[in-house]
Amino acid sequence: MNEAIVLKSTGSWYLVKDINSGKVYDARIRGKFKKEKIRSTNPLAVGDRVHFELEDNDVAWITKINLRKNYIIRKSVNLSKETHIIASNIDLACIIFTLKYPQTSLGFLNRCLITCEAYQIPALIVFNKIDLLSEAELTELQEIEEIYLNIGYNTLRISALTKASIEELKNRVKDKTSVFLGHSGSGKSSTINALQEDLNLKTATISNYNEKGKHTTTFAQMYEWDFGGNIIDIPGIKEFELVDIHKEELQDYFPEILRYKPYCKYNNCLHINEPQCAIIESVKNGKISEKRYSHYLKLIQELN
Ligand code: GDP
Ligand code: ZN
Repeated sequence: MNEAIVLKSTGSWYLVKDINSGKVYDARIRGKFKKEKIRSTNPLAVGDRVHFELEDNDVAWITKINLRKNYIIRKSVNLSKETHIIASNIDLACIIFTLKYPQTSLGFLNRCLITCEAYQIPALIVFNKIDLLSEAELTELQEIEEIYLNIGYNTLRISALTKASIEELKNRVKDKTSVFLGHSGSGKSSTINALQEDLNLKTATISNYNEKGKHTTTFAQMYEWDFGGNIIDIPGIKEFELVDIHKEELQDYFPEILRYKPYCKYNNCLHINEPQCAIIESVKNGKISEKRYSHYLKLIQELN
């Protein structure tokens, strides 16, 4: 049986890599796959593991897709109800955060982490540009870092410029499939470049013809690190959107709320203003970060 990993998906043709031989093939889909639980406009995403049959002209025919460990989705551009799987089987999301130059908001960080929780993607918070921080700013960074360490997230301080802790970051991404998230200017490209100078993520712009006429789309693509593992580059991605997350489940994606909510009086407590709420209590006595809780409240108002 031939098994491959999808390196690129345009929705009509694919690039796959044979996991045994390492050979890369153009690929097409044979037959129809079983309907996915979620509605998706594309049947295959970068990172998918597939079975294929080879035809003499070096075209791989994809016959089966293995169950996805996890995936990230986006709302489709045209059809608002449809979602689009961009990448799957992700071992690590590296979220680049800069305290200054530019300042990353905690809201951005929280939204990324919520999606990671919702889609079961391990996260690493990478504090970049530490070379630019004063003593006072380093203390400020430490306070933020502690909020996230206390609720179980992994963090790392780096400088893509001075290469501080780049070797450590390399160890964290080695032999894994990762995605990098971060605001423009936070140093996503510089960090990737510091990990491997000649990776040169090519922006994969392809004219894609469909029934709605011609439009140009940029596609996600997987690249291999020379030290082991892969990175899925998703052009234009800064953060994960909160897609399909409901008001009632939001609390499940806050590890600190999950921890204390069994002590709330009501088991349908949303921790807004209910009596004998263990979360409100924990914020008061400092066990839960005030900043994180207020962001929870803000988001719950936005979700429905
Ligand atoms: P991207 O938009 O996230 O890909 O950010 P870039 O990698 O293009 O970096 C934006 C700017 O920040 C560039 O001028 C980089 O040289 C600079 N930069 C990136 N990382 C660091 C760092 O660790 N320290 C300093 N001082 N500058 C950095
Ligand atoms: Zn509560």
